[in-house]
Amino acid sequence: MLIAGNWKMFKGPAETAAFCLELRRAEVGVADVVVCPPFVSLATAVQLLAGTEIAVAAQNVHWDSEGAFTGEVSPTMLRELGVYGAIVGHSERRQFFGETDETVARRAEAALAAGLSVIACVGETQAEREAGETEEVLRRQMSVLPHDEQLVVAYEPVWAIGTGKTATPQIAQDAHSFIKSLLDAPVLYGGSVKPDNAAELLGQPAVDGALVGGASLEVDSFTAICRAATHL
Ligand code: PEP
Repeated sequence: MLIAGNWKMFKGPAETAAFCLELRRAEVGVADVVVCPPFVSLATAVQLLAGTEIAVAAQNVHWDSEGAFTGEVSPTMLRELGVYGAIVGHSERRQFFGETDETVARRAEAALAAGLSVIACVGETQAEREAGETEEVLRRQMSVLPHDEQLVVAYEPVWAIGTGKTATPQIAQDAHSFIKSLLDAPVLYGGSVKPDNAAELLGQPAVDGALVGGASLEVDSFTAICRAATHL
């Protein structure tokens, strides 16, 4: 079971330091735990979580190792910091920053080649679900992802992200099974996972963990979700 916390654009280095010191003292159970701070806070998190089982990942990564790509950060730079992996293709990047299936694939391939683990996000919008296009969208998004042991997929229905609307356990189970039929990889569920719905979602046979946004920003709620994964 893998529980990853996507902090989005929250927590600079000072807040990251406070969070990591509290997280070190907290009980997280036996789940594999990853935190994904903003770029500027990665070094602090790596330093303060050193010697623990908790890993640190970035929220995005470029495909080249260096070059004229203003505002981007390369896989080798992340490796140099001691970062374990990166999220790619989060729906907020697809929605607000022009990320496409092709750029997601390039980011994933380069990160994997550099020795990073990758959490690749896929998921349909509300309109796509209502139009009966969920499987078609997932098939398209999955078709470009490389087969690699270090690749984890996150099923994040866009309509459930930051909305408080969670997929029912059955919706998650069906989507995860479909994704697994396309690619043999662990699949995390993401979309308004909270301490009170985590056990039910994580209890589905095809759910291998969670990618948590809002509830990963407080140590108490994040560790409660990590512990929910332990009791399954
Ligand atoms: C996310 O950002 O990946 C996410 C799932 O957010 P939330 O848990 O806040 O819906």
